[in-house]
Amino acid sequence: MASHPLEIAAKALSLELEGLDLSGRLAVVASLEGKSVFTTSLGIEDQVITAAIATGRHDIEVSTLETGRLFNETVALIDKTEETYGILIRRFHPEQDDIDAYAAKYGLNGFYDSVEARHACCGVRKLKPLARALEGASFWITGLRRGQSGNRAETPFAEADLERGMIKVNPLADWSNEVMAAHVAAENIPVNPLHKRGYPSIGCEPCTRAIKPGEPERAGRWWWENDEKRECGLHVAEAASAIPQSPLPAS
Ligand code: SF4
Repeated sequence: MASHPLEIAAKALSLELEGLDLSGRLAVVASLEGKSVFTTSLGIEDQVITAAIATGRHDIEVSTLETGRLFNETVALIDKTEETYGILIRRFHPEQDDIDAYAAKYGLNGFYDSVEARHACCGVRKLKPLARALEGASFWITGLRRGQSGNRAETPFAEADLERGMIKVNPLADWSNEVMAAHVAAENIPVNPLHKRGYPSIGCEPCTRAIKPGEPERAGRWWWENDEKRECGLHVAEAASAIPQSPLPAS
C-alpha cells in the first residue's frame, strides 16, 4: 500500500496516464512542475519515445549514457536521431578516473569474471553517469515495457523511485512488440540496424549477443550470467554498492 508522498503521487499519475496515448502521456508529464528527463539507450522503445518528444515538442530533456563500450551502430544512431529530429541528445560519459580504478581492480573486461565485477562496471559506466543525467530531475522517463522480460511484467505507468527521490514514468509500459513495430514503420522512425541481425535488446558491445529464435528478448544481455533477473542496475538499486572508489572524487 502506498504511504510515502512520492508513492501516492506516482500512483495517481499512473492512473491519469493509463487512458492516454503516448503523446498525451508525455504532455501530462511535461506539464507537471519539475524537470523531466528521458534517458535513451537508443533501443526501439527509446526511439519511439524520442520521436514522440521531438515531434510533440514536449519540454523533456533527452539524454543518453555513452558508456564507451557501445556498438558503433548505436553511436551512429545517436547522431542520426539528432539530425532526423533536429534535437540535442545530451551525452553523459564515465569518468576516466573511475574507469582506471575499475581496470586496476578487475581488469578492463573483468565483468566476465564475476557478478560483482560486472555490477561494478555498470556502476562506473552507467550508474554514475545516470546520476549526473538525472541531477535536478523530478521525473525520469524510461522505455520500460511489461513485455520485455518476466521481471518487468508488472511495470506501472508511473512509480516512485525513493532512492533517487523522483518519479519514474514508463509511457510505453502497455505497448506490445507488434504495436511498437507497426508504429516504427508508420512513422519511419530510425532504429538500430542490429535489431535485424538478431539483437532485440542492445546494450554495451561486449555484454550483448544476438538471440536465437524463441529466446526471450533480453536473453542476449549478460548471457554468461545465470540469474534470471540480471539487469544493469539502472532500474534496480543493488548494483550501486559495487562501484569501486575512484582515487579522485568524481564530479
Ligand atoms: Fe560494463 Fe558490460 Fe555493464 Fe557496459 S554492460 S557497463 S561493458 S558490464
